[in-house]
Amino acid sequence: MLGRALRGLLAVMAVTVVLCTVPEAQARPIAPSCQATAALPAASARTGSPEPHWFCDGRIADFRAPRVLLRFDLPRSGPHPAFFTTRAGSFGRIEISVVDRGGTVRSARYTMDEAELIGSGLNFVLPLPEVTDRSDHIVVAMDDGWAAPLVSDARLVASVDEVRWPYETMLALAAICGLLCMPLLFDLAFYRILKAPFLLWHLTSVLGMLALTLVSSGLVLHLADLTLTQVSFLLPLTSCIGVGAAAIFAADLFEKGCLPERTRRLLRYFAGVTVVTSLAQMSRIPALREHGSDIFYLAFLPLIALFCVALAQAIVRGSRAARYQLVACMPLWAVSLQRILTNVGFGDVPQDQIFAFSAAVAFQLVVTSLGAADRFMILKHERDRARAQSLAMEQMAERDPLTGLLNRRAIEARFAELQRQGFDTMALIDLDHFKRVNDRHGHQVGDHVLRVCAQVLRADGDRHAIALRLGGEEFMLLLRGLRARERAEHLRRAITQRVAAEVEGLEAPVTASMGVIEMPREGLEGTTFADLYARADMLLYEAKEAGRNRTMHERLTLFGSGGPRTTRGTAAA
Ligand code: GH3
Ligand code: MG
Ligand code: MG
Repeated sequence: MLGRALRGLLAVMAVTVVLCTVPEAQARPIAPSCQATAALPAASARTGSPEPHWFCDGRIADFRAPRVLLRFDLPRSGPHPAFFTTRAGSFGRIEISVVDRGGTVRSARYTMDEAELIGSGLNFVLPLPEVTDRSDHIVVAMDDGWAAPLVSDARLVASVDEVRWPYETMLALAAICGLLCMPLLFDLAFYRILKAPFLLWHLTSVLGMLALTLVSSGLVLHLADLTLTQVSFLLPLTSCIGVGAAAIFAADLFEKGCLPERTRRLLRYFAGVTVVTSLAQMSRIPALREHGSDIFYLAFLPLIALFCVALAQAIVRGSRAARYQLVACMPLWAVSLQRILTNVGFGDVPQDQIFAFSAAVAFQLVVTSLGAADRFMILKHERDRARAQSLAMEQMAERDPLTGLLNRRAIEARFAELQRQGFDTMALIDLDHFKRVNDRHGHQVGDHVLRVCAQVLRADGDRHAIALRLGGEEFMLLLRGLRARERAEHLRRAITQRVAAEVEGLEAPVTASMGVIEMPREGLEGTTFADLYARADMLLYEAKEAGRNRTMHERLTLFGSGGPRTTRGTAAA
């Protein structure tokens, strides 16, 4: 029932993601007309000497160069650009020079901490030095860039609004983030019921992906005032948490026997590798600048490849969870692969496709949640069945099979608790000359007598009396409440009447002897079941000795600290 409701809900969520897929924002900014790289950051940012080797064929300069130069030719008409903007990424310094037709140059230099994030998409802006009607072109010199999009997404804009993503896109992304909160709740709720580690890995992965979506969409800036440095730090951190935890989640999720142990270990190992490479990317160690980004992106490839292998192996071995994973991951792999390949230099432009990526992440998480919920249901069902079985076995072990009464083992375990609940009277009942019943009428009749006797003692509906069979034809009653001894006596006598009425053909009436011990309410803590049983057994023996079909009773009372005293009595039939 819960499973079906969950599936329905998640299906609605999946459809929402698809419907929310709106095209990415199209700004109208000025793209660089020429680009160049320089070996040393010391090379001139201006058009003066030495003249860099410009290429103006639309190719994008390699961000790995110590310095990248971007030349923007200014249009003769239209509003003057006011900002330089590009995708968030780490860089050492950016120098912007506005060159007038007369040769005058106005420059401004910025460090990362001066960049202003706009919180709608992950672009940042830097104000241009004054641009006038006489301005001819602008040269941007970027030193020590860490990411390809810094160069590929570089533009000049007249207004920050040009680079803001459309409101609908942001709304859809916010909806995706909202969607990602649902699996978090499910995971927490499920984990309370079933402490399966894969639920925690799923939770971690969802948290990572949620954070990645918040950061890479810029939505996070509406929640916290972050600098470009902090955001550049959070991007690799959140992606490695999301992806690494997803790999470990898959390794834990697949059913036992459906994934070779070696693959399971490798998945965990490569998850660890991506965490390490992401940490390296976050550390901004200068020696890693040129290839850190490549290493960061490429480290995900073996993990994806391994994940494909694991999926194939698990599906071949009949894993149900793996089928969910396959459907879940396809769109994300497609987008991720494109993202990785374009960021390490394949294709013209690095494509991070934040929206497509976020939608694929949401799709993956929704379907993965379905898979996790499905696995949860199966595991819970298995656990409940095992529990029910062990409970049934436990109950069987505590019941006497012939009469259905509790046995000694059951009572002994709870005796102290029963004493606390006020069960202060113990009656030991033994049928008289029962051996004769068996001898004369056979065991079956003997069994019948025992069952009738049990019915009598069970005293249906009496919450204040507990009957048990200790073995053979020996029974015990534990009683609480008023007139407990009299009630026990009444039951003892009832045995004779009920057996006579229900068991046909008996030669002689079946009688019972009884030893009753009444304990004081307080002051007997620490008295064990065995102590009282031994005392009751002695009274029973006395009743047998005195001629059977009677009761011997004893009331234990406490006077001062001298230990229990007794008051004795007898009742014959
Ligand atoms: P006493 O009055 O001294 O108690 O005599 P008794 O014959 O009842 O006692 P004794 O201990 O000599 O015999 C108990 C008999 O109970 C022996 C055994 O055959 C019988 N018995 C024990 N368990 C069962 C059972 O489960 N079914 C049947 N039919 N008889 C049983
Ligand atoms: Mg007997
Ligand atoms: Mg006996």
